[in-house]
Amino acid sequence: MLTGQMMTTPLTVTAVMRHAERVFPTTEIVSITAAGRHRYCLREAFARVRRLANVLQEFGLQPGARIATLAWNDHRHFEAYFAISCSGYVCHTVNPRLFPAQIEYILNHAEDEVLLVDAAFVPLVESLAAQLKSVRHFIVLAEEGAAFPPTRLPWLRYETLLAGAPSSFTFPQLHEEAACALAYTSGTTGDPKGVLYSHRSTVLHSFAICMPAAFGLSSHEVVLTAVPMFHVNAWSLPYAATLTGCKQVLPGSKMGDAAMLADLIHSEGVTLAAGVPTVWSSLLTHLRNTKMSVGRLDRIIVGGAACSSALAEGFEREFNVTVRHAWGMTEMSPLGTVNSAPRHADLKQKLKQGQPIFGVELKIVDSAGRELPWNGVSSGFLKVRGPWVCREYFRQPKSLAHDTSGWFETGDIATIDPQGCMQIVDRSKDIIKSGGEWISSIDLENAACAYPDVREAAVIGVPHAKWDERPVLYVVAHHGVMIAPHSLRECLSQRVASWWLPDAIIQVDSLPHTATGKLDKKALRAFHRASLQSETAVPQDK
Ligand code: AMP
Repeated sequence: MLTGQMMTTPLTVTAVMRHAERVFPTTEIVSITAAGRHRYCLREAFARVRRLANVLQEFGLQPGARIATLAWNDHRHFEAYFAISCSGYVCHTVNPRLFPAQIEYILNHAEDEVLLVDAAFVPLVESLAAQLKSVRHFIVLAEEGAAFPPTRLPWLRYETLLAGAPSSFTFPQLHEEAACALAYTSGTTGDPKGVLYSHRSTVLHSFAICMPAAFGLSSHEVVLTAVPMFHVNAWSLPYAATLTGCKQVLPGSKMGDAAMLADLIHSEGVTLAAGVPTVWSSLLTHLRNTKMSVGRLDRIIVGGAACSSALAEGFEREFNVTVRHAWGMTEMSPLGTVNSAPRHADLKQKLKQGQPIFGVELKIVDSAGRELPWNGVSSGFLKVRGPWVCREYFRQPKSLAHDTSGWFETGDIATIDPQGCMQIVDRSKDIIKSGGEWISSIDLENAACAYPDVREAAVIGVPHAKWDERPVLYVVAHHGVMIAPHSLRECLSQRVASWWLPDAIIQVDSLPHTATGKLDKKALRAFHRASLQSETAVPQDK
């Protein structure tokens, strides 16, 4: 081989920071915090990143140490992203919406040594503290002097630490394959699994999402990150918007507050916003009710769950905002495909999940593993590969993320048309996505089976206008017993988060099974649809 003779400058998050600091020092980051709207520029942000790097260095951590965050979208979380990764540690963003037992599992599995926590989550961490095996330093992300309830843990205050640390720091030279971030996915059966991103995968993915046919980022854009920074690095926006010099608007904990989002879009001149469908449907309702305009908003990225026709039509026809439908996974950093069809394009085409971005390869296969044609009709198991796709899960070497030929199995079922436009038509993984968050059918079934009168339980996801999908629980009781839904619900609420509780509990005499004795969810879903349509619909517990 004749080797190329170009430099092998490592692709690192540190390089992103250095570039932005030199080229876009005055670009703003605006955040909603408990103390109100916070505003500063990248130069100030990176000075604080250096102070935080000095603080972390004092802890004497080894390279690759995991530092967890339990935090919303604001400037402090942004600083943590860069200070942790550029110092050679791993920024582990933890989803505070998970059930406390899952958070405990995740923090222990990752062996996090430092926790950076929004003041709102201090009580949650306090309740878990006795079970946390590796955390040595607890830092609360709050204003200096902000009061918070008496606690048992020796909390360090972020602002006090930063005030006492120097603003200069020499970041280490990192290998581009070094780990930089970690996210656990619960969109899988069994325990949550960790996806460990490298500097290289993060930078390549960030480059890719900036492309015109992806998010189309440049320093002319003002980006509203309405996807949580604890969800797959907020789809990489904190890196991509930084490397292209976009003004960034971080809505704090207010992603579900349509009035706040509308206000930010107006007052900060947002041109591009990204989030899950639930966020956009509430914004759409708010815009309609208040008859507000959308200011400079040009396009929204809708991902994490399927974009409905109501959403696409509402934004495009009524508000002249382009809808870009995107698909991806935690295991894919997350972006896989984007539908860049122009505003007002044919709706049927628009609702497809889109074409793969360069770097991601797709294929669909049948149950025997044979590849299916890209004819827009044949549907099969969707597989992917590429430089920002997970190779194996963190510290679970036996649960390989890919098949024997190196393709990652997404658990989605899709068609691909001759233009390479992919459409999700079903899911082979038994899991429900509600408002962008996963609900495990299996965990819910196990929780239901803990109720003494339940002999068998099956949970299916049913479409929901606001939350995309909601769980419905079917139960079979021991001989002839009538189960009181409220009492079963009470039992479930001891075991799962409140937003996991099924919208309906339906008792039946038996459940459908496959020839191998497994619950036949496909048949149950069909039964559910039919019973809703029939006049003798099974009464539901609402
Ligand atoms: P997560 O790892 O939590 O990001 O979830 C990834 C999964 O969410 C995918 O495998 C899909 O099942 C689902 N998903 C993500 N984006 C979309 C979309 N645009 N349309 C339909 N399902 C989606």
